[in-house]
Amino acid sequence: MDSEFPDKECGDGRRAFQPSRRTLLRAALAGGVVTTLGGNRLHASAASALGGGRSPSASNVIILGLGGGVRFSETFGDPKHRLIPETWGRIRPRGTYFSNIWGKGALDHSVGNKNLLSGRWSKSQADVAYRASLFEHYRKATGADARSTWCAVWGSDVGNHFLGFSLQPGYGPDYGALMSHPRSLMEWWKKAKKEGMKVEEPDIPFVGYTRRVFPYAPADEEIREDLYDLISDTPEFQDTGLDLGQDATLWEQDMNRLLIRRVLTRYQPRVVFLGFCSMDVAHESGFDEYCDGIAAADRAIAEVFDVVESEPFYKGKTMVVITPEIGRDQGDDPAQPVSYQQHTGDTEETNHRHGMVVYGPGIKAGHQVDRRVEQIDILPTIARVLDFPIQGVDGKVLEDALV
Ligand SMILES: [Zn+2]
Repeated sequence: MDSEFPDKECGDGRRAFQPSRRTLLRAALAGGVVTTLGGNRLHASAASALGGGRSPSASNVIILGLGGGVRFSETFGDPKHRLIPETWGRIRPRGTYFSNIWGKGALDHSVGNKNLLSGRWSKSQADVAYRASLFEHYRKATGADARSTWCAVWGSDVGNHFLGFSLQPGYGPDYGALMSHPRSLMEWWKKAKKEGMKVEEPDIPFVGYTRRVFPYAPADEEIREDLYDLISDTPEFQDTGLDLGQDATLWEQDMNRLLIRRVLTRYQPRVVFLGFCSMDVAHESGFDEYCDGIAAADRAIAEVFDVVESEPFYKGKTMVVITPEIGRDQGDDPAQPVSYQQHTGDTEETNHRHGMVVYGPGIKAGHQVDRRVEQIDILPTIARVLDFPIQGVDGKVLEDALV
């Protein structure tokens, strides 16, 4: 709570963030893309597939992950919260703020997210593959179909593909989420454009598992076709993203924003994970770009917040969780912007300590919890709020946030 970061190294989060190479993408998201959302391809089956007998309160959850590594000191721990004005100023007062939530395990991109999605610690990406996800727990307990769950991952780490499902016995791909992975989806779109919609998809072996479980595009033909049209209508995305260096993470984030807006407004999944990753430009960039990435993620979170607050399917019925997956190195001198570039220091608090905002029905508003809690507590808390049973989970329900 009392951490500082130097003004001279990090810009004001309110200033304009307009990297020239991303202007087209942003313009598309602000204008052209949105106009396509009111299109005429709302399929009757998509609109009705999720109907069920659940209570109208706390019937959905959307997890917004600050992905790729971000420190407490530049986000929740900044006394002025300059880079997360939306999350802090507009969203936090509506819910409960946890000032002291900790991760554990390997400092790889998928690990922290799987901690919070599985309620169990993973020490490696191999562990990530064998921890049943929120989506699997939810679908197994409720009988909900695949369209009820959506996992928007980013990055090329294979572990990220195991956020939406696992290889844990008794769970697995049959209970997994529909997934979007920007780079894979774009590769699929390019092939589909040339060869038709029946694209031959590759087997990707991982930890001895070679089943075709990493689809290029969501494993739902109707949604595939819809996303094909979406990308076709968005030329700004079509020739970028696969070879952009550090900008790949920003492209991935913008692509995820495009996809998730489409998915939320048309298909209305009840259980959603969406990873924002713009701060991970830190690996290959200066401190200002890292800070810009945080501010960009905050604006993206605000966009989803606005969808939740404007769509009747979600408004007043949705639990929202906003928290990072992992941190970044502290180093010896915060004024020397080098340490922030990596997340390798397992003993450093800055890699493991985070903040979290939770809001929605059943969650206290205007409340703060300062005791230490853990990432693995998130899944049990979601299960309590949405009222479905879970098994084999190590975390505890965050009772002090509940009404
Ligand atoms: Zn990273």
